Amino acid sequence: MIPRTDFEWTVYGDPLVSVKVARDFRAAGFTGLLFLEVEFFSTSESPFGRDSLELRPSGWGGIAPQESGVRLIEECRYCGRQVFSGYTDSSKIFDIDAWDGSDFFFIWPLPKYIMVTETVAHHNPGRGRRRGTGFENGLGQRLDRKASTSGQS
Ligand SMILES: [Zn+2]
Repeated sequence: MIPRTDFEWTVYGDPLVSVKVARDFRAAGFTGLLFLEVEFFSTSESPFGRDSLELRPSGWGGIAPQESGVRLIEECRYCGRQVFSGYTDSSKIFDIDAWDGSDFFFIWPLPKYIMVTETVAHHNPGRGRRRGTGFENGLGQRLDRKASTSGQS
């Protein structure tokens, strides 16, 4: 089966990219990203082959400053699982001094939200128009979700 778009999202919000995109991002020399092997299963749990990889940001964008509105709303005293609120001010989630300079990065505690530099956002190799990107508009929508993450497990 061929991916319908170069960028897809699983039901868990994990981004999948085509092998072509992975190759292109590597060739572009972008930093702060890992490509992980993916196994696909149908709803009847039979595996099927598909040419995609999970894109995981590894760059560090620091911790969302308090002014962003992100705050701890729940912490399990047994396992350390933490639940955070969403942000109230998106212009305050990024502290440039805490950023490691990677092209792909995440801000704690928002690991599901992939942040990219403008270089990445405007990167458009070849002639083909990329469908399903989610890098500009899609990311903004994702930021509205509540962030939840497990502590030290
Ligand atoms: Zn617990």
